Amino acid sequence: MIIVMKNSATQEYIDHFSNWLTGRYDVQVNPIYGTGTTVLALLGDTHALDQDAILRDPHVERVTKIQEPFKLANRKTHPEDSTVEIAPGITVGGKKIVVMAGPCSVESEEQIIEVAQHVKAQGAAVLRGGAWKPRSSPYSFQGLKAEGLELLHKASLATGLPVVTEITNPAHIEQFIGKCDCFQVGARNMQNFELLKELGKTKIPVLLKRGFANTIEEFLMSAEYLMAGGNSNVILCERGIRTYETYTRNTLDISAVPVLKRISHLPVVVDPSHAAGIYWMVRPLARAAVAAGADGLIIEVHNDPAHALSDGAQSLTYESFEETMPELRQLARAVGRDL
Ligand code: PEP
Ligand code: MN
Repeated sequence: MIIVMKNSATQEYIDHFSNWLTGRYDVQVNPIYGTGTTVLALLGDTHALDQDAILRDPHVERVTKIQEPFKLANRKTHPEDSTVEIAPGITVGGKKIVVMAGPCSVESEEQIIEVAQHVKAQGAAVLRGGAWKPRSSPYSFQGLKAEGLELLHKASLATGLPVVTEITNPAHIEQFIGKCDCFQVGARNMQNFELLKELGKTKIPVLLKRGFANTIEEFLMSAEYLMAGGNSNVILCERGIRTYETYTRNTLDISAVPVLKRISHLPVVVDPSHAAGIYWMVRPLARAAVAAGADGLIIEVHNDPAHALSDGAQSLTYESFEETMPELRQLARAVGRDL
């Protein structure tokens, strides 16, 4: 961290301020004296430093961070790619690109088992499906909740597919344990810090979705919450962000994939369904994700999209999922991966 002092700071004040910094934080202060301006270069563990408190000092002109605020999620502290095992033999972050597929919402026992069988037959390795649905409107279908979770578990037992499902409330964690293999934290809850702190106390994998109005740094700071709590099984998911464009539901920030892979060691999954908002765009966006280096995809597939209780417009039909998978497999091979 660099602190630029104002010209008003006397030598006496700079000494006093430097002593205060070293006494309070585990840092070393190296002053650089220029003509009129003094710059303090802080070395050491600057993560705990309260930038706002420093900025309030009347003799401080500017504070510049030179280190990213995320530590555990940072590739600098963990140069190798990390992998997250969702179930025995199903690891996100390795050579194999993991496809998670299923309906937006669990609607009935028949539906979820049938969809699970279908996506499994096409090569999906994980079943997705929402039981608690955080909908934009209170009048929309809110999910089957506890019953939905039970049905997902049944579908998992029937097919052998592990389950990823959204958790919206820390009070539900106990209930989810044993019924899901990976918690999904949705875009709307990316900064639900109390939820993140509680999920951080478990070792169960978490698929953390990027909030639609959050920067990559904020996204990684949410991953940091999980990791700081002791859960390093974090999978990042880019699902599109809000931009001025209205033609798509969200804008898939494809550049987030190489950026995240570069600055973090955590595996990165792309959700082309929620980015697109419309079925015909899912396939090209999924291809883009594979080409950009994603470690996995989470795709909505429905038995009858026209009558889906949520996100029918963006859900793939069985037929379209069947056409999509071989195409993605071929592309994965072209970039040195399997799928
Ligand atoms: C979902 O996966 O169905 C969902 C609600 O996703 P997001 O949180 O990305 O909107
Ligand atoms: Mn959905």
